Amino acid sequence: MADVQVTIFNVQKFSTEDGPGIRTTVFFKGCPMRCIWCHNPESQHFHPEVVWHGGRCLGDHGCIEECPSGALSAGAEGIVVDRRLCGGCARCVAFCAATALEIHGREIGVGELFDRVSRDVAFYVNSGGGVTISGGEPLAQPQGLLALLRLLHEAGIHTALDTCGIGPTEILREALTLADLVLLDIKVTDPEKHQAWTGAAFERVDAAVRLINESGKPVWVRTPVIPDYTADEELIRAVAGYVAANLPHCERHELLAFSNLCTAKYEQLGRSFALAGAPLLGVETMRRLCQAARDAGSLEARWSGPMRVSEGVH
Ligand code: SF4
Ligand code: SF4
Repeated sequence: MADVQVTIFNVQKFSTEDGPGIRTTVFFKGCPMRCIWCHNPESQHFHPEVVWHGGRCLGDHGCIEECPSGALSAGAEGIVVDRRLCGGCARCVAFCAATALEIHGREIGVGELFDRVSRDVAFYVNSGGGVTISGGEPLAQPQGLLALLRLLHEAGIHTALDTCGIGPTEILREALTLADLVLLDIKVTDPEKHQAWTGAAFERVDAAVRLINESGKPVWVRTPVIPDYTADEELIRAVAGYVAANLPHCERHELLAFSNLCTAKYEQLGRSFALAGAPLLGVETMRRLCQAARDAGSLEARWSGPMRVSEGVH
């Protein structure tokens, strides 16, 4: 079990936003969804991805020689990564003393990962915290997810599974026997919008909701609030009503305000962010949407996220 390998792209210690208390959040790499507003573009692909930071580069081009795959070249604006050729070996990253190259994602054994996250057990116990397994989508690396959950469960460490619900049914069922809390993303309940905005069918999320409800495990639902997409009273009311009807033991409904801090990450990965120019939301908008969620049945609705400096109704 400890030998199972997973690909992760971050381990965030002292996290306070992914469940109760002080937590460590482990981010698995790879996701079956492609949400238009995704704020972690480095989480989407399953393989490691190299990025170049021009501000740190010395321009000596040593990395180009170091790459065994011929994936690096000198372009007009600096080092160019040919992602079709890159095998993710990270030799260039180790070579670059200027730390101008970075790799998102690395394989790690579950045993090593467990050792790393269990070092902070005193913080977890004293704060009522634990470990959150997030992504990407953890269900997309099923053996690694179950192995890590099992080790943490046996060690008595509180676990939260942060999921969009899309994954193999049997894996979710088993994960639910091990996890202490589920953080479930429900972005929109309209099937057409869900398919168009996330690339995935809502009926798969709905199927996961039924399993989660049957498990009786505590759930926190999370809904991203995105300008021109989900920042809509009727939509939020529909999500909250769905949650009230289908997840009666939901303890909290979090509305997460849009953030555009990810724009630079898209550029580094050679991708464009469709919402790069979208404005942050105003406090009054979030208050109004939160009240709409409460009115529709999500009594424990709350909101968080970056706000526009000048307030106003978006
Ligand atoms: S080795 Fe590092 S500093 Fe040198 S060219 Fe490559 S990225 Fe730039
Ligand atoms: S990770 Fe390996 S294959 Fe990819 S660019 Fe760096 S050295 Fe080349």
